[in-house]
Amino acid sequence: PVLRVALMGLGSYATRVADAMKDCKKAKLVGAISGTPSKLPNWQKKYNIPASNCYNYSNFDDIKNNKDIDVVYVTTPNAIHHNNVIRAAAAGKHVICEKPMALNGKEGQEMVDACRKAGVKLLVGYRMHFEPNTLEIIKMRGNGEFGKLRFFNGLSGFRIGDPNQWRLNKELAGGGSLMDIGIYSINGARYMLGEDPIWVAAHETKTDPVKFKAGVDETIQFEMGFPSGAVASCLSTYNMNYLDRFYMVGDKGFAFLQPATGYGPIKGHTHKGELSFPHIAHQTIQMDEMAGIILENKNPIVAVDGNEGLKDLKIIDAIYKAVGTNSKVEVSL
Ligand code: NAD
Repeated sequence: PVLRVALMGLGSYATRVADAMKDCKKAKLVGAISGTPSKLPNWQKKYNIPASNCYNYSNFDDIKNNKDIDVVYVTTPNAIHHNNVIRAAAAGKHVICEKPMALNGKEGQEMVDACRKAGVKLLVGYRMHFEPNTLEIIKMRGNGEFGKLRFFNGLSGFRIGDPNQWRLNKELAGGGSLMDIGIYSINGARYMLGEDPIWVAAHETKTDPVKFKAGVDETIQFEMGFPSGAVASCLSTYNMNYLDRFYMVGDKGFAFLQPATGYGPIKGHTHKGELSFPHIAHQTIQMDEMAGIILENKNPIVAVDGNEGLKDLKIIDAIYKAVGTNSKVEVSL
């Protein structure tokens, strides 16, 4: 069986996913949902999408009568994920939602609940959960090759351009760098160490309050503590380039990824030497694997369901609270 996908929100990431899906064996782009109908003719032509599988935001609920679409992949700005996911679920479609899954834990919980109630699957676009270098390190960790894990360091950032884009608008982005790029270090710490944090601490630095308005973080340094005693120290920023690195240390070895989460090729090495997996577009592997999860109930090596997205949102809530109160905040996931 082939997973038949409709993309919702035809921006730059949707285009990347659509292009990568051309190489998929088990997933196929068959539909498009856009608030800008002028985009649709191009998409129809470029990706061979029939008019009967094209929707706008007013007639989108009719998708429930469309037997040719299995899943809606939401790639709109962060603030609209919540509503779009709940609408797609109510129409009886499985949903893939981009990261961050929503603006906060409360919204995330509502999305998880709505999909459970509708009997549809909710997955989050965590493409690194299928990346071969990353998975090799996770496998080595499972085999105890790093010994007792002590420390994770995650650096996630880039210098953001256009001050008028939605990513710098609190209403649409829900925050700043942490929502968009820092989430890679949060999520990465969890899949690299293989456990969930029980506390966070954090500090914010803002050098440009004109570009980064109230509620839009420029740079946050944060720590997370884990039940095993391992700690993570991370940096999230919109004001520095060349920050895409994970480093994990145990008492028997280490793992290093740089780049760790960019579009690739990902480069990894460990105390045993370099990892050398061939590069395949992350979204191609992700969509083929998600086809297996949705259509065949396969279990991924690293979970990508709504609960995973929700955990990261709860950690983000706690980090913003730690920044606001200048204190260590307990997390229960
Ligand atoms: P983008 O601005 O290029 O595209 C967003 C699309 O949503 C546009 O087509 C826009 O027209 C549409 N849209 C719908 N409602 C809108 C509204 N009210 N305001 C503004 N635009 C609206 O953004 P993007 O880079 O494609 O990011 C989209 C989502 O994908 C974000 O949640 C982002 O975090 C995520 N993303 C994930 C990855 C990844 O590697 N997994 C990479 C990039 C972006």
